Amino acid sequence: MKKSLERPGDAKTRINAAAIKIARIHAVVTTHPLREERIVVSHAGRHSESTFLIVVVEDQDGLHGYGEAATTLLWSGESAQTAKWMVDSVIAPQLTGATLDHPGAALAVMDKAIHGNPFTKSAIDTALWDLWAKRRGVPAWKLFGDREPVRSIPTRASIGAYPLEKTVMIAREFWTAGVRILKFKVGVSGLDDAGRLRSVREELGDEPVFTVDYNGAFRNAADAVRSIESLLPLKIALAEQPTHRERIGLMAEVRKQVEIPILADESIFTPDHLAEALDLDAFDILSLYPGKNGGFTRSLEMARTAFKADKPCVIGSNLETDLGQAAMAWLAAASAAFPVRQFACDLASSLYYAQPSVTQPLIVRNGEIIVPDGPGFGVTPVMVQS
Ligand SMILES: [Mg+2]
Repeated sequence: MKKSLERPGDAKTRINAAAIKIARIHAVVTTHPLREERIVVSHAGRHSESTFLIVVVEDQDGLHGYGEAATTLLWSGESAQTAKWMVDSVIAPQLTGATLDHPGAALAVMDKAIHGNPFTKSAIDTALWDLWAKRRGVPAWKLFGDREPVRSIPTRASIGAYPLEKTVMIAREFWTAGVRILKFKVGVSGLDDAGRLRSVREELGDEPVFTVDYNGAFRNAADAVRSIESLLPLKIALAEQPTHRERIGLMAEVRKQVEIPILADESIFTPDHLAEALDLDAFDILSLYPGKNGGFTRSLEMARTAFKADKPCVIGSNLETDLGQAAMAWLAAASAAFPVRQFACDLASSLYYAQPSVTQPLIVRNGEIIVPDGPGFGVTPVMVQS
């Protein structure tokens, strides 16, 4: 991995020219139904529609930056309604009228006022990056990128914890749509995971890359190891979050005992989680995305830390719509920490939603998302008020 490139955080020193004065912050709750056949069932529950918050930050010149809070109660303890209350009642009163010399400056204000609530903070932070780039008339990657961006990124598609026949049916649909990396939700009691994966292998052959996501199913390392080992004959490329999110040490124990890479998701939301996981040597690959990390700024910081530690990053997802996905796609496209041809990103949520959320929907072609173009992150939300 080449390490002489400029680090993401170094961009901060280059872009102090155009300060943002925040004139207005507006937040809208939106609901996005999933296509019936794409409803996600996992150890973390059932997800049939997404109720999210769109944040619009308007600057002194009437330009708009957009961000999305992809909230779910079971994931971060946030809902669109709690996010809206915090934006309207706490964040907007403190930031309106403020002049920022960097998009990340708002995080200090938000962190001083509110503990946690990463997706809410991320919506504001991401909107500020979008606005920051639009003020300069450039795509956002020009302000943070540490490599020439790739134009498309292989995506993983997620297959819920369904019984065998439905698992095979969904896998076949994604395969037909060109997706080559399949992520199976596993570890839900009552399902024969080995049988499910075996049936998909029999149907699709050896070519698809299989990964599995336990969503923190185990509180015991031995059980996690036993489960992963039972799936190894089916050629799984990695195991995601086998142990409970708050037991990083357990994940380190599992990692020592299995031969495939461990991808950390729920256990690593923040830079502090990342520091602890690195100390414990608890993972091989890191799942990052702005909502989980509490802001695009934080994802950049964590990507830089992981890169220095030789831990490759992938984009994870809380089923962001195209509004959230655009920023995520740009993060991976222009950051050296993301070896996108080696490890696919969870950027297929366009395939899950019944209607587009932005005026120029993202394109997934042959299993790869096309990185959008244009100033900022390149997307404008379709405002559908619930
Ligand atoms: Mg996951």
